Amino acid sequence: IHQYGQPDHSEVTTCAYCGVGCAFKAEMQGDKVVRMVPYKGGKANEGHSCVKGRFAYGYATHKDRITKPMIREKITDPWREVSWEEAINHAASEFKRIQATYGRDSVGGITSSRCTNEEAYLVQKLVRAAFGNNNVDTCARVCHSPTGYGLMSTLGTSAGTQDFKSVEESDVILVIGANPTDGHPVFGSRMKKRLREGARLIVADPRKIDLVKSPHIRADHHLPLKPGSNVAFINAFAHVIVTEGLIAEDYVRERCDLAEFESWARFIAEERNSPEAAQAITGVDPQEIRAAARLYATGGKAAIYYGLGVTEHSQGSTMVMGMANIAMATGNIGMVGAGVNPLRGQNNVQGSCDMGSFPHELPGYRHVSDDATRESFEAIWGAKLDNAPGLRITNMLDEAVGGSFKGMYIQGEDIAQSDPDTHHVTSGLKAMECIVIQDLFLNETAKYAHVFLPGASFLEKDGTFTNAERRISRVRKVMAPMGGYGDWEGTVLLANALGYKMEYTHPSEIMDEIAALTPSFAGVSYDKLEELGSIQWPCNEKAPLGTPMMHVDRFVRGKGRFMITEYVPTDERTTGKFPLILTTGRILSQYNVGAQTRRTENSRWHEEDVLEIHPFDAEMRGIVDGDLVALESRSGDIALKAKVTERMQPGIVYTTFHHAKTGANVITTDYSDWATNCPEYKVTAVQVRRTNRP
Ligand code: SF4
Repeated sequence: IHQYGQPDHSEVTTCAYCGVGCAFKAEMQGDKVVRMVPYKGGKANEGHSCVKGRFAYGYATHKDRITKPMIREKITDPWREVSWEEAINHAASEFKRIQATYGRDSVGGITSSRCTNEEAYLVQKLVRAAFGNNNVDTCARVCHSPTGYGLMSTLGTSAGTQDFKSVEESDVILVIGANPTDGHPVFGSRMKKRLREGARLIVADPRKIDLVKSPHIRADHHLPLKPGSNVAFINAFAHVIVTEGLIAEDYVRERCDLAEFESWARFIAEERNSPEAAQAITGVDPQEIRAAARLYATGGKAAIYYGLGVTEHSQGSTMVMGMANIAMATGNIGMVGAGVNPLRGQNNVQGSCDMGSFPHELPGYRHVSDDATRESFEAIWGAKLDNAPGLRITNMLDEAVGGSFKGMYIQGEDIAQSDPDTHHVTSGLKAMECIVIQDLFLNETAKYAHVFLPGASFLEKDGTFTNAERRISRVRKVMAPMGGYGDWEGTVLLANALGYKMEYTHPSEIMDEIAALTPSFAGVSYDKLEELGSIQWPCNEKAPLGTPMMHVDRFVRGKGRFMITEYVPTDERTTGKFPLILTTGRILSQYNVGAQTRRTENSRWHEEDVLEIHPFDAEMRGIVDGDLVALESRSGDIALKAKVTERMQPGIVYTTFHHAKTGANVITTDYSDWATNCPEYKVTAVQVRRTNRP
């Protein structure tokens, strides 16, 4: 205001960064955003915000924005600016040529968790109806796909159980593999408020995150797990609950499958799952695990909040099941203050999954092999749909390297920077004949692209995002798309050029189609969103105003299902050559691969990624704070500055992945979750040494 004077109008919209989904008023002068003001009416944030949503919107008008479509024949050619018509026709004719030459399954698409629900829905529709296969995947593959698999298997739905407000009534909070004060700051503040009021806290994390000890807050138990030991830990935690008689027997008898509970309880009670036996794997004092499990089981309403430290492991899905097991065993699902709650990373990762962005699921998490579901889509889409699951991102890249996968439409996703084992990703990208990128900037993946379509920021389009508590909120257009079209319009153009008719004049019509085809969205419309402000799905005849809390009287799947969670060590092992374990995460001021936040004033708080290392490991290597170090794994090596800190435990190092020049994913492995292929970003065996190489 000081700089620009008073705004002349404003519009309420939703933050495009993390899965908290804060509502903001975008205050405008003409078509210029003057400032973003946290909106008091936003149910996810109640008038609060963090430095990203409040200040880091300048990327939307950054000089690096690409505003003209571009094409090139070969990736070594310079880009040539063309009209939208020429770019779209070129992309369509290339995809048609590839399919005619290499077969129907030689192309696919990737939806974005940064784009709107309506846009993700259209990309998967294009792949299924226009390409005629199920080769569609989403960046959720590399973050929370195990959440979907684990919660669906145990509870019957691929989403968190509670709304954010629920934490205000928790008596015990168990945070596993999440750092809410950095990753989800507005929710982190809400959690801290409850902790200051007296809720008890257990943190299971290799690092001493801020919640472990900060002003007025001290965790009752910090369980510094070795990366890769989550399942051994949750089994040990459950062992205490089972063997010390802490089961909520009436709850389990009434609400869960008893035969499965009994076989789970027998498995968990085995001595090999005791905290003492697990200590060699977890590295955690067994008495601390025992005390924490007793607190969780007997301390009142207990809520679990977890993040990518749970999912990005070779046993990510198993760990999600393990958390659901202990919540059911102690009766901690279906009431306010309890639950199992993923802290979703990206603004619309929940939504992109809900919208059928997976190769095996149509919108609403219904399997492509289900004839009745497919027929309902075929009737409205006017296309015959494939009943076999398609390829995941990693499989698309594998097939590309093998020569049978040749074309990809990627909306709002930078797989060359965000996906693991960069060398493998770029080999796959280089092997393709047509890659179409729709994005704001020439990102790392665009280096391998043949067509570039200008993307639109969240300020330039209408739509909806769905946050981590299943809350669907409106995104409102406050300025004209700099490239001429919203992302959804680009998809419509491409589908039509491919010969598949898409006719929408506004994203509200896309939402109407989603509602007509998806039972959990049946009651959602833009009119209702206007009236209620936001809606948590399921919203349908049974719940016309939406559903803040799931599984209240019964689990969505009927009886809650206990799953056997056998611990299987990761194949990534430390050796004499690679004796340390690297784990990765985020910091408050930056966001993911930094494509947006690095182009804002936020960069002043974090100019580069650094390597956190314990003083013992640093001293052993002659490293002092600020030294340039080489970080080497079996996949590659990078150089970055060292930060010597007791936040780390000996044997474990940590870095962020916000800067392309660091390229942390050059060194991560290609191991992944057994069920979903979510990459094991959190466990990489490395060596660290001083270097002079910049
Ligand atoms: Fe945006 Fe998340 Fe910050 Fe809220 S907490 S302002 S949604 S980045």
